[in-house]
Amino acid sequence: MKYSAVLLIAAAHTGVSAAEPVVTGGAAPKAQAPYTFIEGKVPEDVQPDGNSIVFEGPNEMLVIDTGRHPEHTDKIIAVAKARNKPITAIINTHWHLDHATGNARIRAAYPGAKLYTSTAVEGALKGFLIRNVDKAKARLDDPSVPEPRKADTRLYLNAINDPANLVPDHPVKGTMSVKLGERELKLHLAQYAATEGDVWVHDPASKTVFVGDLVVVPLPFFDTGCAEGWREALAEIDRLDFQTLVPGHGLPMDHATFSSYRSAFDAFTACAESSQPTASCVATWMQKGAQFVAMHPDPKYSEDALAYYVDQVLRVPAKRSEYCGKPNASSR
Ligand SMILES: [Zn+2]
Repeated sequence: MKYSAVLLIAAAHTGVSAAEPVVTGGAAPKAQAPYTFIEGKVPEDVQPDGNSIVFEGPNEMLVIDTGRHPEHTDKIIAVAKARNKPITAIINTHWHLDHATGNARIRAAYPGAKLYTSTAVEGALKGFLIRNVDKAKARLDDPSVPEPRKADTRLYLNAINDPANLVPDHPVKGTMSVKLGERELKLHLAQYAATEGDVWVHDPASKTVFVGDLVVVPLPFFDTGCAEGWREALAEIDRLDFQTLVPGHGLPMDHATFSSYRSAFDAFTACAESSQPTASCVATWMQKGAQFVAMHPDPKYSEDALAYYVDQVLRVPAKRSEYCGKPNASSR
């Protein structure tokens, strides 16, 4: 279970899904995007789905992130079926299960699909992802737990019991290219950012970057994040020539909007690393990231989540050690 309780409780979000490419944030061009954007829903009572992207090649389809719930993954499969081309490759931006659970469902429909992602999932399958297995199993037997949460729990247990559909057969260990007809997608690896290994994708031809949870609206999710590596990743992305950035959650944005996200991120994490009170750090994001906070119906959700991340993740040395790859962690 990827999301902390505070996020799960408060995860009301503008979860409208769109089959058409959507560009927000001002000056981005309206030209037809060469991909289909499927927005991940973040409903109130169940765990979220990450955004997905479907690219069409001459004879095949490529997917970036596959969602969690079958309803989300089936939208991806429907795009491929409508074009009558098989999905031959999946790229997971990271191992969080709102982005990778759907791999199994895609491969059930298209058994040959290759999986490109970082090897960070191998560590997660020995740590973060299995820490709460007993609690999850107990939830299935608890009559007070609502059925939608039980359904999420079953999805989680099925996913971790099927590591072949999470672990890459094409590991991303640095920058690499994936060809789709004439199109050449550049895969980049950010180490110790939103997870221990985040893959982000640059399509130079359409001047688009797909960054997974390196960018999340209304605020960055630090559940497995390392502020230092994450800042470096955002700086590297900012140096690129692109017009549209597709985040892991929320709608696509233009480069200028991303740059303001980045400066809010830098200010928020610098505050978390200082001795300033938690409330000051929360206020930093609420002000500098105001346009992102405004994309969620409830500002209190952002305030609570930000305070949680400052106090329970960013200022906890054991978590910093674990998520920043510093092996001298004394506890967890
Ligand atoms: Zn996510």
